[in-house]
Amino acid sequence: MPDYDIAIIGSGLGGLVCGAVLGMHGYKVGIFEKNRQIGGCLQTYARDKTIIDTGVHYIGGLGPGQNLNAIFKYIGILDKLKLKQMDADGFDVIGFGDDRKTYKLAQGYDNFIKQLLVDFPDEEEALDKYCDKVKEVCTKFPLYNLRTGDYTEKEDVLHIDTSTYLSSITANKRLQQVLAGNNLLYAGVADKTPFYIHALTTNSFIESAWKCVDGGSQIAKLLGRKIHSLGGEIHRNAKVTRLAGSNAIEYILLEDGRKVTAKHFISNLHPAQTMEMTESGLLRNVYRTRLQNIENTVGTFLLNIVLKKDTFPYLNYNYYHHETDNAWDGVNYTNDNWPLTYALFANAISKSEQYTDSLTIMTYMRYEDVAKWKDTFNTDSQPHGRGDDYEAFKKEKAERLLDIVEKRFPNIRFCIRSYYVATPLSYRDYQGSADGSMYGILKDYRNSFNTFIAPCTRVPNLFLTGQNLNLHGILGVTISALITCGEIIDIGALMKSLSPELRSFPSGNSQGAGDVT
Ligand SMILES: Cc1cc2nc3c(=O)[nH]c(=O)nc-3n(C[C@H](O)[C@H](O)[C@H](O)COP(=O)(O)OP(=O)(O)OC[C@H]3O[C@@H](n4cnc5c(N)ncnc54)[C@H](O)[C@@H]3O)c2cc1C
Repeated sequence: MPDYDIAIIGSGLGGLVCGAVLGMHGYKVGIFEKNRQIGGCLQTYARDKTIIDTGVHYIGGLGPGQNLNAIFKYIGILDKLKLKQMDADGFDVIGFGDDRKTYKLAQGYDNFIKQLLVDFPDEEEALDKYCDKVKEVCTKFPLYNLRTGDYTEKEDVLHIDTSTYLSSITANKRLQQVLAGNNLLYAGVADKTPFYIHALTTNSFIESAWKCVDGGSQIAKLLGRKIHSLGGEIHRNAKVTRLAGSNAIEYILLEDGRKVTAKHFISNLHPAQTMEMTESGLLRNVYRTRLQNIENTVGTFLLNIVLKKDTFPYLNYNYYHHETDNAWDGVNYTNDNWPLTYALFANAISKSEQYTDSLTIMTYMRYEDVAKWKDTFNTDSQPHGRGDDYEAFKKEKAERLLDIVEKRFPNIRFCIRSYYVATPLSYRDYQGSADGSMYGILKDYRNSFNTFIAPCTRVPNLFLTGQNLNLHGILGVTISALITCGEIIDIGALMKSLSPELRSFPSGNSQGAGDVT
């Protein structure tokens, strides 16, 4: 008898959602997580008695009748989440350079158009066209609409380039950039990021945008509790080093030498990492090489600020800033002009409605900027400093970022009690990725099929899940987890139990059968 029906490697959101859903379907689940804390990017940490998020600052699609709402309700965690809906008239606010004028992205499509018309009164036609296109593209993704469907549905929208499309709907350059203004959300690259990535992400926030009150790790905790209540087990500090077998995976090997057997194995890791660890003649070298060579999204430099008590107001919106007039420039920074963009998130706390106790300021950073320290490793369970020069590097970058932020928030330095920095090395060490990429595999509209990773592999009992599959983010990863579960359970039946929760959206049908995509 194998130890588990399903062994899951990694307890990121993808692994946890798979564990909960498969547990609900009667499978005995074991999850193996290398870190002390579960959740991957959902992890939080505390400094000066303040909770700091590492990878979830706001979530879309959680309103009644919306996709993530239906899935979290089905899993049984929705009513336990502490959530705060963001400003209806502007969940994201976009600013450029020294221009004091800012632009609001609002919730609800009618309101989204209405708010932008205040700043762009002549652009109603372009805004209508944009919203219709976003909604149309979203209908082509069956699982996003909680239905099964055919892969061919989306074929005709995969090859649209976001920046080109936005330029095509209006000659107003500012509006083009405002619509792309929150592209840090998907690490957008001009002339590369497919419009479907922009549409699926943006749509979920236009539908509704939410903050987790007191941190995003509550999602991981609730999923963990659910898994335990179903008889599943989560093993922390349990790093998997090898997946072994010939015609099928027979066991996973843990760093401490234990072997764990299961009928099915799901890896929540980057597919390239999974393949590096997998011994099986069934995996062709061409597949392994393809995964190794696939480009990842850029990494991040995250400045987490603990604030002096009651000094900085709670902002019920995120502020996205671009130093130039081009919202796509940020990712192309040089050492001299870094940072060219940032997002500022005020964390929602139960202690106060009026003030926040911490801010997260996020910008880009490439792995090569920290490659000098690549041979170091540092996590809370294996703490090793990276050296004084690394600390000096972080400080210099943090102060440079604050110089830019200060132009928009002049009081910010006065409000700081302490700050803590994460670089691509932090994400590499905590997530187990090779380069600390923010959102995993970079999608390219020219080569969409090559950047789609299937949940099944040539090894019949090895499946993949997580942000590298279809879409990153809380919504994207949750949906990707359902796709993975669909390799083991009847996804049609699962969708049928979810779809009654869904308000007809945006014009997708809720029937249909065939491939799950
Ligand atoms: C800075 C940042 C900000 C973000 N902000 C938002 C946001 O505001 N809203 C939003 O929706 N999304 C946001 N995201 C994206 C979102 O957090 C991620 O897409 C999502 O959480 C990724 O989940 P995952 O399951 O793919 O994997 P991960 O979170 O990467 O988890 C992988 C897990 O596998 C474990 N692991 C790795 N190797 C091994 C091994 N050998 N053995 C055992 N375990 C292993 C890791 O420790 C980790 O727990 C953000 C991401 C980042 C980086």
